[in-house]
Amino acid sequence: MTRHQVATHCPYCALQCGTELSERAGAVSVSPSSFPVNRGGLCRKGWTAPEVLGSADRLHEPQLRTGRGELAPVGWEEALDRIGSNLDEITAESGPDAVGVFGGGGLTNEKAYSLGKFARVALGSSRIDYNGRFCMAAAATAGNAAFGVDRGLPFPVTDLGDAEVILLAGGNPAETMPPLMQHLERARLVVVDPRRSATAERAELHLRPRPGTDLALALGLLHIAVTEGWHDSEYTARRTTGFERSWARAVTWWPERVERVTGVPVSAQRQAVRMLARARSSYVLTGRGSEQHGDGADTVSGFINLALVLGLPGTRGSGYGCLTGQGNGQGGREHGQKADQLPGYRSITDPRARAHVAEVWGVAEETLPGPGIPATRLLESAGTPGGIRALLVFGANPVLSAPHAGLARAQLSKLDLLVVADFLPSETTRMADVVLPVTQWAEEEGTMTNLEGRVLRRRALLPPPGSARSDLEVLRELASRLGQPESRFPSRPSTVFDELARASAGGPADYSGIDYERLDSGQALHWPCPKTPDEQASTPHPGTPRLFLESFAHPDGRARFAAVDWHGPAEDTNHEYPLVATTGRISGHYQTGEQTRRVAELATDEPESFVRLHPDTAARRGVHDGQLARVSSARGTTLARARLDGSIRPDTLFLPIHYGGSGCANLLTNPVLDPRSGIPEFKVAAVSISVAEEV
Ligand code: SF4
Repeated sequence: MTRHQVATHCPYCALQCGTELSERAGAVSVSPSSFPVNRGGLCRKGWTAPEVLGSADRLHEPQLRTGRGELAPVGWEEALDRIGSNLDEITAESGPDAVGVFGGGGLTNEKAYSLGKFARVALGSSRIDYNGRFCMAAAATAGNAAFGVDRGLPFPVTDLGDAEVILLAGGNPAETMPPLMQHLERARLVVVDPRRSATAERAELHLRPRPGTDLALALGLLHIAVTEGWHDSEYTARRTTGFERSWARAVTWWPERVERVTGVPVSAQRQAVRMLARARSSYVLTGRGSEQHGDGADTVSGFINLALVLGLPGTRGSGYGCLTGQGNGQGGREHGQKADQLPGYRSITDPRARAHVAEVWGVAEETLPGPGIPATRLLESAGTPGGIRALLVFGANPVLSAPHAGLARAQLSKLDLLVVADFLPSETTRMADVVLPVTQWAEEEGTMTNLEGRVLRRRALLPPPGSARSDLEVLRELASRLGQPESRFPSRPSTVFDELARASAGGPADYSGIDYERLDSGQALHWPCPKTPDEQASTPHPGTPRLFLESFAHPDGRARFAAVDWHGPAEDTNHEYPLVATTGRISGHYQTGEQTRRVAELATDEPESFVRLHPDTAARRGVHDGQLARVSSARGTTLARARLDGSIRPDTLFLPIHYGGSGCANLLTNPVLDPRSGIPEFKVAAVSISVAEEV
């Protein structure tokens, strides 16, 4: 049934701004709500999101690739039957790990949960991972190691409003999450970013490390904190372990050495530490800029070490947090679509977790596969001996979002079967053998978990267009074709959520005390929120807005310092590729841009890819402002319009990640992975730049 107004949340980033969505005579409009993270604000993407609902490109019917190589419309039964029989064949010939599943950090909690269960129960495959591996994995790994659990912000966003000083390493919320900036207005900002981003413009202190040297900077800041006497030794003795081992690595990172490696002056290093240490309330926050590296987890650990030595985490009014990126980047990594995890944010190798989840799923524990492989390796394995022969993609566009995108495309073209479920055509659907049209945000019920671990209700305003179906229905139908009882894969979101909550019980991300009724009554529920015993049912758990105030989540209650050191990025500049390319987001677009590039206002403002470079760098290569430039790495070439920018480092180029075709920034990036987290090195690629022929 069509409703005319619903309270819901923006479909895009992890801030999950609250909105009122209305429909009148077929036109949908949005207005911001007073939800605490946005308090009446929205960014341009949020304001224009309804336009995507009515996009002329919207996928309405399943499509199947014909013998002539074209995608042609077919009915659901034909499409699903084809997938079912192909999967049966491939599994029979090559085993269950020949089928991979690739999920997305924008999927609702219910979908992420069902996808993980589908892969492990219906397919019996370990080969599942998701695009969050490209964006959140380093912070998740470092957070888990340090605190025993990873929640982006272990405190409400609104706590940041009382901060005196915030050090933001590699985040640019003024462009990526503008409504967040109202919470940072009172703080004195220290921003770590190789370019003068919109957030750096507002900073009292801007540190511009050479790309790939963030960890060296973090080690240097720790060195200054200790040698200048800011070390909170009472806190570290009482609440942490491992300081000595971490200090043994940091001890040689004296400020002059750090300046030589990073380019950040000694005076600026000292000023940053003094600002943080002298403040009554201070926070260290990380974002993708410090995380998307071949040493991403170590880099985040370096900044966590700094926060720990100053006594910030788990202290009221101070702390460490990570600004999660994707809409459900937090929930998306908690419910089992990650290669190494089961619902409740538990390790897939933990025997107790396996037994508990197997019982909830009604299967024998020994039938559950073990850990899979990181997203990049999953894609690279396509069509290789022992690799995947089929891939099911839900809510992701890996042809553009994977590092070394040219290789990802080449590998996916070797698959026997590529199935993509999405609501808009993308460069990945264009390669698919079967395309399944699914519902999007305003057409479905569900839940999301925002960057502060708060569980939110997404509500349907509109019916699905054409014959589009919910991903949950698609999974139920596919599971049934693979011999699973339909009852094992419910498609009603509230039923899936109740099962997810049971599966999460006892895990770090415990949702067992949460249900739709509580969320619909407006309760602010941050996980963990365990179910209370029946005799206390009248006083349900209130959720946990602030973690770690009493103790950290490790068995001994203490946070862990990490012993980390800097060894440099995987790829050095050289004679052929003398510059460093780094990638990131801009205010008008989201992810690979398949949604926002279809919004007229946003597409008009930023219609094509660009490359920011210093005027001196441009002059040496004869590149003028506004000219089409060719940027090349050892892996490929991309075309982008030159924008001269005197604030960027002369050795650095910046390219946005939101464009496809020849403007895809990931044609350049290095698929080397961080050994701890599996995140790729998106932020450092050795490149050259020259003038390109206009096309
Ligand atoms: Fe949407 Fe994020 Fe913009 Fe808020 S900040 S309106 S959640 S894209």
